[in-house]
Amino acid sequence: MPELNPRHALVLFSGGQDSATCLAWALDRFEHVETVGFDYGQRHEVEMTARRNVLREIVTIGGGWSGRLGPDHVLDLRVLGQVGETALTHDMTIAVAESGLPNTFVPGRNILFLTVAGALAYRRGTKHLIAGVCETDFSGYPDCRDDSVKAVQVALNLGMDQRFAVDTPLMWLDKSETWDLAETLGGKALVELIVEATHSCYLGDRRARRDWGYGCGQCPACELRRAGYERYRARRAAARART
Ligand code: ZN
Repeated sequence: MPELNPRHALVLFSGGQDSATCLAWALDRFEHVETVGFDYGQRHEVEMTARRNVLREIVTIGGGWSGRLGPDHVLDLRVLGQVGETALTHDMTIAVAESGLPNTFVPGRNILFLTVAGALAYRRGTKHLIAGVCETDFSGYPDCRDDSVKAVQVALNLGMDQRFAVDTPLMWLDKSETWDLAETLGGKALVELIVEATHSCYLGDRRARRDWGYGCGQCPACELRRAGYERYRARRAAARART
């Protein structure tokens, strides 16, 4: 059985705002950081491009970060698209289903992601799994909740006879506080990289550059990102006005 290294971390990295902030958080704390991304037939190559751009640039921001960033792993989980249609994997309009969940919900997605990441971490001897899930501003996905994530951590540890730690640095932050965290970790340069290079829009739209980044401006992901960014900027402006 491999010994898990407590100074090593594996970040579940999608190329979005949340996982890019988590990547900076990990680079700030751990000696060695690897990333894992999942190809599950999501509608847009744009996410994969965002991942590559963030990985290339983020190492220039924090002192010593370039020496800490290890390999990136991309794993095929297209089985999720075979299980059933959702607005993330098929061309359909984003809407709220009868269950009250948006049809961007892919049942079991985060459970599967954490399980596969746990299997990879086992092979790599990595103790920490880092996921940018969030209970505060989330889209209603039950497998992003704290209890769900902790349950998966327990299942991994029992099923692999290990002591993994699943870290969720954004769990209790709203989207504006996630921007604050980025600024604390990497200053304006990191905020700028997240605006410019990460991708959140469900429609994969990168035609228009807005203050908060690229996106259609209409879908639920754009709406969350815009509102969070505006609250973050307003708070900064108010703090400057007081000094
Ligand atoms: Zn959008």
